Amino acid sequence: MISVSVKIIQDYIPKGRKNRPGYAMAALYITIHQTGNTSKGADAKAHAAYLKGSTAAAAPVSWHFTVDDKVIYQHLPVTENGWHAGDGTNGPGNRTSIGIEICINKDGNLSKAEANAAWLVAKLTGDVKTLKAFPGCMKQHYNWSGKNCPAQIRGRKNGWSNFLKAVESNLKTKKPAATLGSVDRIIGVEVDGKKVAESGVFYDGATYVKASYIVGLIGGNVTGHGDHIKIALPKIKDTKKLESELTSLKLKIKNAQAALL
Ligand SMILES: [Zn+2]
Repeated sequence: MISVSVKIIQDYIPKGRKNRPGYAMAALYITIHQTGNTSKGADAKAHAAYLKGSTAAAAPVSWHFTVDDKVIYQHLPVTENGWHAGDGTNGPGNRTSIGIEICINKDGNLSKAEANAAWLVAKLTGDVKTLKAFPGCMKQHYNWSGKNCPAQIRGRKNGWSNFLKAVESNLKTKKPAATLGSVDRIIGVEVDGKKVAESGVFYDGATYVKASYIVGLIGGNVTGHGDHIKIALPKIKDTKKLESELTSLKLKIKNAQAALL
């Protein structure tokens, strides 16, 4: 399934809190977690409130994003570290990875939350230029500290490889940056010397007219749009065969005329 974009709400832990250490970070990795909290209402918003509260500050604990089945909350800029990997003050998990928590609240849809997280990972691999190339950037909390986290993904057969596949499919569907500028002018179209209702555009030194219109003129057919179109060209008549039929007809007429004389 292809995720459409998910809303990201920035709700940062205030500067100066014990769980916002503020060490500059050029992120190399993305660390995936699952919250371990199945309680009703333990969604992304609830975790944002938790991270801004005194319990998380005292721990101290923090991470960058929490993802549920509807929305994503961002708690820290991706250029600052959080305390989520359990590998110490100078551990590569805590100091070089972006932490993502996936919600497992029982009133949420877990597979949708995981799909949203896969979308977020794909987005980050494009946005954060310092990250190692995918999938080299991908870590489980388990990889840093040995904790069984993300527990639900890890507990499922092929859970991790399927999560990476979901990221990959988001990478494939990611649209290239739009490069089209504005159209220079609209161009009229004439067919066999007659002006028609269809128009074209002149852009970047070339004229463009709708493929369905152009192909339709010669009796072909265009279907599909979006990722690709299919063009069915008209069957070209065999002119040699036509010529020989014509020759034999002429001969018959000649013979018939000769018979009449
Ligand atoms: Zn974890």
